[in-house]
Amino acid sequence: MRHVVSRTVKVRAAAAAVLSLAVTVMGCAQGTNMNTRGERYVRLVLAMGQHDADYVDAYYGPPEWRKEVDARKRPLAEITADAGALATDIAGAAPPASADELTRLRHEYLARQLEALRARAAMLTGMRLTFDEESKALYDAVAPTHTEAEFGTVLAALEAKLPGAGPLVDRYDEFRKNFIIPKDRLDAVFTAAIDGCRSRTLEHIQLPPGESFTVEYVTGKSWSGYNWYQGDYRSLIQVNTDLPIYIDRAIDLACHEGYPGHHVYNVLLEKNLVRDRGWVEFSVYPLFSPQSLIAEGTANFGIDVAFPRTDRLEFERRVLFPAAQLKSELAAGYYEVLDLAEQLSYAGNEAARRYLNGQIDARAAADWLERYGLYSRPRAEQRVRFIDQYRSYVINYNLGKDMVAAHVEARGGTPDNPDKRWEEFARLISSPRLPSGLTQRAR
Ligand SMILES: [Zn+2]
Repeated sequence: MRHVVSRTVKVRAAAAAVLSLAVTVMGCAQGTNMNTRGERYVRLVLAMGQHDADYVDAYYGPPEWRKEVDARKRPLAEITADAGALATDIAGAAPPASADELTRLRHEYLARQLEALRARAAMLTGMRLTFDEESKALYDAVAPTHTEAEFGTVLAALEAKLPGAGPLVDRYDEFRKNFIIPKDRLDAVFTAAIDGCRSRTLEHIQLPPGESFTVEYVTGKSWSGYNWYQGDYRSLIQVNTDLPIYIDRAIDLACHEGYPGHHVYNVLLEKNLVRDRGWVEFSVYPLFSPQSLIAEGTANFGIDVAFPRTDRLEFERRVLFPAAQLKSELAAGYYEVLDLAEQLSYAGNEAARRYLNGQIDARAAADWLERYGLYSRPRAEQRVRFIDQYRSYVINYNLGKDMVAAHVEARGGTPDNPDKRWEEFARLISSPRLPSGLTQRAR
């Protein structure tokens, strides 16, 4: 306990030193005023957390700000009014055209994050939005629509791969039973997967000394994994063991939650923006905001960056299948089926859109997930609980990944140019870029 306290104090002192140095060096009102606005924003996000338990995903700024906010629960109307005043102030303080890119991004980012905060506050006071209006307001993006016929084409291809009687979802579930990680092997498999993800990431991205995370196994959650960033370059990663965990989830979770996903993303924001520049607004992470599309999109795209398909198959066969005591010779066939099933991921968005727009009820949403997304019944029900809790957040995973991939590839980070791919990926996760500011796919 003592140790933790002294470390926190040291870090805060260091951050304060960096902050005052940054202000002195810049020697202009622009930077100072933006830091004041950043602080006002942090306090508003923390105040929102008192009305919405899921809102503040991470906070590692000055602890006394949280204490001050906690001392009095501010009404939503007051938070909204303050957010409006701050937005007006920010709009009137645009940086000059000569400012560097990061400074301009900082400004646009803060303005847009604040817009999302006001939208979430309005939702908490009863404002009703459609699925697409909500995702636009909160995540700065709208997911494309897909028809049953489009999923039908993929399902037909899977029928051919998994022939037999009965519903396809049952055959798919039966097939996957050969790839469940036995419970007593979980930790060994995850440890091996994390090692693989970390070593590949460190070849391309320099991380500050002392970064690390702890893994915990939990139950009774609507999600399958979660990264709780603690600050000081540390994360707590929780893995939900309510349902069987398949072997492919080891690399997915290790990359997504850890390297080069959420853990690395948060570490780089803390290092580059909060500590080096003193941009305090990045010490808080409001979950229902555009930042989440970038966070989830990069975490998912990071899996492919760290493990291109051939490399991944080799690692699965040589390391993970043996660690899980599964048959390595089945790995290639398993991934052929998974590649097809992944093309059904947007079925999850369609189920959420129909359900949240009130066109279908929870049961019909689970039916839809079963039929078009090949979710087993317990998984479909878990997913509906996730949609109840996080709503249009679902788009951040697949649309986020596709938008991030398009951005990185449009800048030359194509699969045949792995160094450039890592470089553009690292640049994106070290900067405050908004979803609408991502480069579109080059035609
Ligand atoms: Zn995530």
